[in-house]
Amino acid sequence: MHETPKTHERARVLTGDRPTGPLHLGHYVGSLKNRVRLQEDYEVFIIVADVQALTTHLKESGHIKEATKEVCLDYLAVGVDPNATTIFVQSQVPEIAELTVFFSMLVKLSFLRHNPTIKTEALEKGLGEDLTYGFFGYPISQAADITFLKARLVPVGEDQIPHIEQTREIVRKFNRLYGPVLVEPKALVGDVPRLIGLDGKLKMSKSYNNAIFLKDPPELVRRKVFQAVTDPARIHPTDPGHPDICTVFAYHKVFNEHEVPEIEGSCKAGKLRCVDCKANLSSTLNRFLEPIRAKRNAFAEQDGLIWDILGEGTRRARAIGSQTLSQVKEAMGLSYFPKQSPQRVP
Ligand code: ATP
Ligand code: MG
Repeated sequence: MHETPKTHERARVLTGDRPTGPLHLGHYVGSLKNRVRLQEDYEVFIIVADVQALTTHLKESGHIKEATKEVCLDYLAVGVDPNATTIFVQSQVPEIAELTVFFSMLVKLSFLRHNPTIKTEALEKGLGEDLTYGFFGYPISQAADITFLKARLVPVGEDQIPHIEQTREIVRKFNRLYGPVLVEPKALVGDVPRLIGLDGKLKMSKSYNNAIFLKDPPELVRRKVFQAVTDPARIHPTDPGHPDICTVFAYHKVFNEHEVPEIEGSCKAGKLRCVDCKANLSSTLNRFLEPIRAKRNAFAEQDGLIWDILGEGTRRARAIGSQTLSQVKEAMGLSYFPKQSPQRVP
């Protein structure tokens, strides 16, 4: 059968992180692992969402550039290949901001108000009366991050599902009103939809001070594991434990799967001391993190390379952004001047 080269085009994937600090184990199992896996078969784009970082880090904007580099180092450390994946910086692609403005007309406030992730985050971050328009509306800006690329798949943690739903809704509305320009994306949740925090909180997060970072040195990993919350009802080492409510056991389930039946059995029987269980977990995590740390250190010495990767990725993202925005404006009837030849995607 006759095949055109078009049939080999790979579908696009978009995902990303806020440069508000280094990445942690939650990012790895929730999203990073999938990104690395997908780069062979998809055209993967990763956005460093520095504008979104401002929603909670307005006064610390001076640290965002350094954090952007850190996040990029984490990507490379876990195996994101800059030759296969495009990494770019949100604030340097103005087309995203433009699209956000158009999208903001399509979203009802009543819908935004009911977004469960926004509610939880505003509460956890104690925003209260300080809640800004930018924070409240960040799912709209995220919809623009995804759709300017026409991404089909978005690897994310479970907390992001309401935002992807919102994006789908926006795309449907736009296409209904103006014609089929945008692509409806799907969320792809990682093996562990939501890794809990060291403090037992529902989510490990940069903001909650309850995370093990991918770059943490071995001794710090050990210290953090030893401070993790276990079964509070267990006072003596021989008391029967309740692994189902133990943070340390939750991590064993994710990072030490093959030992889980044994750990569970001996904990329940009061035969495994929490200190031994924690020592085992910290060694397991350190074994997992060692190659990541080594790769990260190697890249950390090449400052110029990191900025080249981000610069090149951003240039590519902009070229696509300018094409999509031309189509969007054309469809909306907001195209005024003689057509300029569109920028070619390299
Ligand atoms: P911040 O506190 O700055 O918001 P964060 O730790 O919540 O940081 P984000 O940058 O908001 O991290 O999240 C980036 C991606 O990582 C999202 O797809 C999110 O769902 C995923 N992710 C973050 N934390 C976890 C977690 N604990 N478990 C699973 N996925 C997670
Ligand atoms: Mg977050």
